[in-house]
This record gives sequence, structure tokens and C-alpha cells, in this order.
Amino acid sequence: MSCTECGLHRYRKHMVIGRGSQDPYVIVIGEAPGRAENAIGEPFVGPSGKFLEEALRVAMGVSIFDAQREGIYFTNIVRCRPCDSVTGPNRAPISSEVSACLPKMIALLDALRPKVIVRLGLSAQLHTSFLESDNRYKIVDLPHPAALLRRGGTKAYDYKDYVSKLRRIWKHD
Ligand code: SF4
Repeated sequence: MSCTECGLHRYRKHMVIGRGSQDPYVIVIGEAPGRAENAIGEPFVGPSGKFLEEALRVAMGVSIFDAQREGIYFTNIVRCRPCDSVTGPNRAPISSEVSACLPKMIALLDALRPKVIVRLGLSAQLHTSFLESDNRYKIVDLPHPAALLRRGGTKAYDYKDYVSKLRRIWKHD
């Protein structure tokens, strides 16, 4: 695929659609691919992804590979890395970029039909506020793993709460 519907295609190495179960109970939605994700075309493979996978492992007591079999799919609100040059830093996607890409995420939700949507971070939450009135989904909001990493990772004051919220998803609380 070679989408050019917004300017983010210019510095893209790989479009990052998502990965995980094709019959998911949960879809985890983050903000955007970063440098590591752009390099290999998979979501959540950088430090934030590794932290999230560890939190899921602790929450569910299984490896992420089992977790994926248990019905998790990982994606982002945009599919190409937001940046202003190939070597430039990651940045947040701007509204026009999100608007261009959101129909793809909505089509993905319609195809995969999860029961629960986990939105990671304020950006994902703000740009998908329209999902809150869609009664097909239960919405769970969590801080982006990058925010916890900045606060000390597993030593962050809200790490236990983070894991407990993840655990409750599978207990259907
Ligand atoms: S971010 Fe989305 S809309 Fe923009 S070029 Fe990439 S796939 Fe297309």
C-alpha cells in the first residue's frame, strides 16, 4: 500500500497498520508510529511498546504472544511517523493528518469489531472522542506508556493502577 493522503507519507519508510489478533476482544490505540515502528512497519516496538507489553504480561500473567492470542490488536490513530524530515524527531500528528488517516482506523474497527477500545494518551483520546457515543464499544482510557516511562516506568506512582486497569479489562469489570 502507498497512501499519499497526507504529508506524512514523505518521510515514511514503512506504513504501520497494526498487529495482533484478527478477532480481537481489545484494540489498543496509540498516537502514532515512532522511529522504531517506522523502521520495521510494526506498532509498539520501541521503548513505549516494550513497556506496554511488560505491563500486559504482569496484568494478564502471560507473554505478549499469548496475550495476542487472547485477543489484542495494536494500532495508532495515524499510520505514518509524524516528523518533518527523515532524521528529525518524532512529533504529534496535526489535525489535518489525523483527519486524513482516521477513516482507515474506523474501517479497521468496523472490520475487527472489538468489544473494548483502550486509548493510550490524550492525543488518541481527543481525536477519537466520537467513539464515546458508539455503544458497540467499551472505552478504557490510560496514559500513554511514554508518559509512565518519563515518570520512572515501573516505579511511576501510577504504574500499579495502570496494571490493575489492564487486568480489569479481562475480568470484564
Ligand atoms: S498517515 Fe495515514 S493518511 Fe497520512 S499518508 Fe500515512 S496512511 Fe495516508
